Parts: sequence; structure tokens; C-alpha cells
Amino acid sequence: MALLQIAEPGQSSAPHQHKLAAGIDLGTTNSLVASVRSGEAQILTRDDGPVMVPSAVRYGQEQLVEVGQKALDAAVFDAENTILSVKRFMGRGYQEISQQAEALPYKLVDQSGLLAIGTRQGVKNPVEVSAEILKQLHVTAEQALGGELTGVVITVPAYFDDAQRQATKDAARLAGLNVLRLLNEPTAAALAYGLDSKQEGVIAVYDLGGGTFDISILRLQKGVFEVLATGGNSALGGDDLDQTIVGWLLQQTGETEQSSQGLREYKLLARRLKEKLTEHDHVDFVLPLQEGEHRGQLDRATFEQLIQPLVRKTLTACKATVRDAGLTVDDILEIVMVGGSTRVPRVRQAVAELFGKEPLTSINPDQVVALGAAIQANVLVGNKSEQDTLLLDVIPLSLGLETMGGLVEKIIPRNTVIPVAKAQEFTTFKDGQTAMAIHVLQGERELVADNRSLARFELHDIPPMPAGGAHIRVTFQVDADGLLHVTAQEKSSGVSASIEVKPSYGLTDEQIMTMITGSMAHAKEDMHARMLQEQRVEAERVLEAVDAALAADGHLLQDEERSAIDASLLRLRASKDSADVEQIKAAIEAVNISTDQFAALRMDHSIRTALKGHKVNEV
Ligand code: ADP
Ligand code: MG
Repeated sequence: MALLQIAEPGQSSAPHQHKLAAGIDLGTTNSLVASVRSGEAQILTRDDGPVMVPSAVRYGQEQLVEVGQKALDAAVFDAENTILSVKRFMGRGYQEISQQAEALPYKLVDQSGLLAIGTRQGVKNPVEVSAEILKQLHVTAEQALGGELTGVVITVPAYFDDAQRQATKDAARLAGLNVLRLLNEPTAAALAYGLDSKQEGVIAVYDLGGGTFDISILRLQKGVFEVLATGGNSALGGDDLDQTIVGWLLQQTGETEQSSQGLREYKLLARRLKEKLTEHDHVDFVLPLQEGEHRGQLDRATFEQLIQPLVRKTLTACKATVRDAGLTVDDILEIVMVGGSTRVPRVRQAVAELFGKEPLTSINPDQVVALGAAIQANVLVGNKSEQDTLLLDVIPLSLGLETMGGLVEKIIPRNTVIPVAKAQEFTTFKDGQTAMAIHVLQGERELVADNRSLARFELHDIPPMPAGGAHIRVTFQVDADGLLHVTAQEKSSGVSASIEVKPSYGLTDEQIMTMITGSMAHAKEDMHARMLQEQRVEAERVLEAVDAALAADGHLLQDEERSAIDASLLRLRASKDSADVEQIKAAIEAVNISTDQFAALRMDHSIRTALKGHKVNEV
């Protein structure tokens, strides 16, 4: 699907120069930058330095900021001022993180609801910390490419919500980068393997990184990727594999009490052992003890036993996600392996067993995301026009509005491909209503209370009209980065109000899963709740309308007609709060019947009144 190119007015339409673009994998553990050079995506390094920059930032003495390996090394002795895995904090609330059981060595600060970290250089928020990593990659890229970057593509997990995506964009802006777009990590990996030009079908991307596990199911159709489902575990990764070795080491040495510094040393050793076991059957190690040292050996079989429960957890998540996509493992055409931890032979083997075929591992699993991002960046700056890939992502949870009765009207259903814009018309509930409260919600459930509130705003200056007379068009627009803009406009007057949704709290992937599975588990109960609420709202509307009509034209009625109407209204008032949908429905129906004649009388009367004193051609 080629995009049509249009030149800027007054500018030549001649093919432009090759522009510099880069793809950035801003990882939890490691970050890297890549670019397409001479038609091939390559990782960029500085002075042949290391390919991966550990995602570590240290705020040192005298305004010194260290990024990467130096900072990671400092984490052992300056843990309080060295921030690791900042990606976990992006766009997240203070409450959310500070309540996590995991003991963080930092001074956590509540920065108007958002989480920040108190360092010796003052309070730093996750956006600023990430920006330090991005600045480093920015410099690396410009040095390696020998010029200024036109734009970059930054990858984010497929489940990142608005707040997390917005935080990532903010960090890039702070680092002086022009973000062409954010790209889902699994989509980038599939692109790196060139799967976009291969056979159409369903692709699974298994990403086991340092601290997270993500499984994504993508469908490739007509050169377009669509995310069918995402799942995983935000607290499962290489670090947890390391942790099993730490436990084993402690057993071996018989040591129990460990200072946090001692534990960090154990962790670093565990990680080295694990990585060596990828190539070797066994590794020897020496551990300094309080007194003397411990010499030992860890073999691969023991390691595989230690990590088996964790590997099994990832497989369980894979099965659940494949099911969530409405598929079975046999439907999966290719499996792309992403993340340093997929180097572990046992992991590869387990994935191959689950899917019944060998996964793709030929591209370095910790580079594959950055390489894919580079390919996309190259297309987006316009270096490659003929064979554009148009990448589609989906929104993970439905987006909607609160309507009367605390119900949610879904405007964009979950898994809708983005970018997307959808509009729906709403109207006023009361006569003369001049303002409308717009409450934007995210989630799958029918009732407002069971969904997540994203934003609220108000539309004012609606011209007074009878209830139901105003036409208010509410447009939901989700851009290519997954950010939501909501606009409400009253048709006759053109008054409008809008909001860009930047929720201050992020959702974890578990929360997303819970919200999705919750909606299935509660489907029946929700359906009932919705019908009940709808009938209650309808009852309110009918009562208001009849009361208003009686106040205006009640004099037209005979006594017995009036008392029949009053009786039906009484019955409706009594039953409108009952939990019995049918009872409310019947009471509404009774009011409708009792007021039938009255409606006809009013109609006649109003026509006569309208005509009185007017010439026919004036009407
Ligand atoms: P993230 O996406 O979280 O930034 P990466 O994809 O860079 O993480 O993966 C980092 C993880 O990969 C670490 O836990 C690291 O120990 C692990 N890892 C890297 N190389 C190897 C290897 N050769 N064998 C096993 N694990 C490895
Ligand atoms: Mg990664």
C-alpha cells in the first residue's frame, strides 16, 4: 500500500536527498540505535564501542550524569542515585509504583500524582531519566552517520497505554529528537525479518528481555501488520532467571544474611554465569565470602531445572494470548524470538515444542527490534517510496463515553486498527440544557464504574433547545502513536470543546488482561446491568417529558384522563428503581398508553395556537 507523496507548495517535486533516520529500541535493560545504510539496517556504535547501552543513568557528583555501562557499574556502590529499568516507571503514577512490594533503593517522590525520584542532583522524573539515555543514543547516531538526524522511530511495548506512549514521546523531545512515530516492538521485530514481504498469515513474537515477557500475536495481510492480541508478564525476564541462580548460590555457600551491596554482587555473578551457560555446558566460579572464598561449578542441566517454572510461565501466557486472538498454536505461521533471554537454549527449545516449529533466531535477538525500527524510520523519512510498508497497530482496550445512567457507549472497540477517527452523535437529556459533561473511558465493561476513567471535559454554550433537540458530534481520534484526542461539537452553533488525553496513570499489562477477561466473565451480568440502566434512563426521560407536558397543557385533560395518567406515572415512579427490567418496561408502556390521547390533544392544540393570528403563508 504505497502512500502518495505530495510536494510542499512552492517547492520542487524532484526526489529529495537521502535523509538521516534512525530506529531506537528504548529497552528496560538495554537500549540501542540502528539505521539503514547502503540499503541495510545496521546497529550504530560510537568509536566501535559496545552495541548496547545499558538503560542505566547515574546522577553523580557535581552535575555529572553517567549513562550506560559506567552507570550500571556504579549501581553497586551508588544505588540511590543510579536509576535502572526506568522504562517501568514511564507514565506511571506514584501510588502505583510506591505500593509495589519490590524494594527500590531510590527516594520515591510524588510529583503531582506522577512518580519521580529524589537524587543528589534533585528530583528527576522518568521522562528526564529516559531523555538522558536517548541523548546518548542521539549523539551516537549523529556521530556514526556523520550528520543531523531528520527523525527517529522509537519502539514501545504493544501494550503501552496513552500515558506511557506520551511519556516516551516527551522524553524524545527532551533529548532533541524528532519522533516520526512510535512503533510497537513486536511489529518492529517482524519487520526486521522482512516478514512484511513474505507469506500472509499469523506471526507470534516471543520477547523475553531483562525484566519483562511479552507475547504478541500479529496478523500480516496485504503487507500490513495488525496486532491481534498481546499478553505476557511485566515482572518476568532475565533478571528472574538470574534470581534463581542467586538463590542457588546462597544455598551453595550457606550464607543467608546479605547486605544489599552483597546481593547486587551475587546478582551480577549470576547473570554472568547464566550468559556463559548459553555457550557452555558448565561454568566455574569463585565467590568471595565473609571469610575466604567459595569455589564452585554450575552446569546447564542444573540451570535448566532452576528456570523450568519460569519458562513454563511464559508458555502458559503464550497459550492464553493465542486463545485471546481466537486462534490455536497451529495457526501460527512464524515465531519471532526477541530479547536477550531468548538466547537461553532451553527457552528456544520450549518455544519450539509449544508451537511445533522452529522459531526464527537468525537475527540477534537483542538487536532485532532496533533494526526493524530503523527500517521503518527509513521509509518514514521518505528514503524509500516505492515499496512502503504501512504498519498498523491496534488499541488494546475499547474507548468510549459515559452516557445517562452511568453506562458506557463504546466509540472505538478494542483491537481497532490505528490511526482511526470515529464520531457519534449525542443529544441533550433535559430541556434547555446548555452544557454537557464528556467523560472519556477505557475498558470493556458496560458500566462506568467498572471501566477506567481517562479524562473529563465540558462542552458549554449549547443553545437552549428541547431535550433531544441538540446534535452533539463527539469525535474520537487515535493517532498513529496511539494517543487519543476527543472533540465535541454542537452542530447548529458550531461551539466545540476538545481534549487530548494524557492520563496520569498507566495500566499494567495484567490490568489490561484483567479488564479484558473481566468483560468476558461479566458479559451476562453486564448485559443485564445495561438493560436495567437503559430502562431506568428511559423511565426518567418519560417522567420528565410527561411532567413538562402536564405543566404546560394539563388543562386540556378531562378529570378521568388526568387521573389515569397520574396513576400510570405513580406506578412508573414506584417501579423505576426496581431491579426488574420487565417491570420498568411495562410501567413505561403503561404511561405511553395512558398519555396517547393527551399527546394527540396537545398536537391539535399546538397547531391551532401556532396558527392563531398568523397568516397561512407565514407558517
Ligand atoms: P530489554 O528488552 O529488557 O532491555 P534485552 O532484550 O536487552 O532486555 O535482554 C536483556 C536480558 O538478556 C538480560 O537479562 C541478559 O542477561 C539476557 N542475556 C543477554 N545475553 C544473554 C545470553 N548470551 N544468554 C542468556 N541471557 C542473555
Ligand atoms: Mg526488549
